[in-house]
Amino acid sequence: MHSIDLGAQANATRQSSTHQRQHTRGAHIERSPRCFYPVFMHLLSHRHSRAILNTMTRRRWIADTSTATTASLIGDQAAHLARVLRAEPGQIFDVVANGFLHRAEILTVSDREVVFALHEELEAEAALPVHLLLAVFKFDHLEWGIEKATELGAARITPVLARRTEKHLAQAAAKRVERWRRIVREASQQSRRTDVPDIDDPQPLKSALALVDSPHKLLLAETEQENSLAAALQRHSNYDGPDAEHNRALALAIGPEGGWTPEEMQLFTENGWQHVTLGPRILRAETAAIAALAICSALL
Ligand code: SAM
Repeated sequence: MHSIDLGAQANATRQSSTHQRQHTRGAHIERSPRCFYPVFMHLLSHRHSRAILNTMTRRRWIADTSTATTASLIGDQAAHLARVLRAEPGQIFDVVANGFLHRAEILTVSDREVVFALHEELEAEAALPVHLLLAVFKFDHLEWGIEKATELGAARITPVLARRTEKHLAQAAAKRVERWRRIVREASQQSRRTDVPDIDDPQPLKSALALVDSPHKLLLAETEQENSLAAALQRHSNYDGPDAEHNRALALAIGPEGGWTPEEMQLFTENGWQHVTLGPRILRAETAAIAALAICSALL
């Protein structure tokens, strides 16, 4: 939630639905250089552009439960809306429900449940079609990497218990996975995604490889010297053969702090993974994940 001015958002959205556009603009003015804002709004006079601006500035929630016409936030999310943001009936937010993004109006508020009426569907960005296999490493670094991978659009993350994952981390990983699912949910809302990436249960490399259904599999390897990730992606984007849409999906694997063992490297080779480099420097695993996804979002 770092980049959003929650106070301004809460003030803006505390108004009735008929005044929503005006107040969302007000919230935006507080964050924009005054001299630039009128020019920006003039350029955005087209109705579609304004709709995009509203969608960018309105706070977004991912519903816990939904029907065809309503959606609800429950538990911590409801408590946050009710107590911290002091939500009230009539306020307008963007809500993701049933996999679609809607403009939504609060019907009822309690500490336990906030219920929205779902209004029109809004345009939404698709996730980056990237399945990330991420070796488990120090949890604070790993969790930071998972959060950033979510912001950058990764569709699925499989935590891998690599041979060189420290033993105590491998043993504790199964209990941390619920926390990782909460992290991706919050990061998805914060980065205004329409979906939440799937986080698989942590598992050894062999079973993690069996989960990958993309034909394009790239192993990020600091030992590779020629084949860059960018070059591999450019070849990949030019693909327009049969079932091109499905085949645009990509799998990326990032190793643990001590790297993969020779046996694990052999497994990758047997499963058709291609080695790619991010350049001559050895990056921390979480840096490699972020750099790789940033390159994917620029080139895919
Ligand atoms: N085995 C390495 C060592 O100790 O010298 C370090 C592994 S590195 C900290 C962790 C992971 O980040 C690697 O397994 C690889 O997936 C990725 N990585 C780091 N630098 C990279 C680079 N320059 N190109 C591609 N992948 C890289």
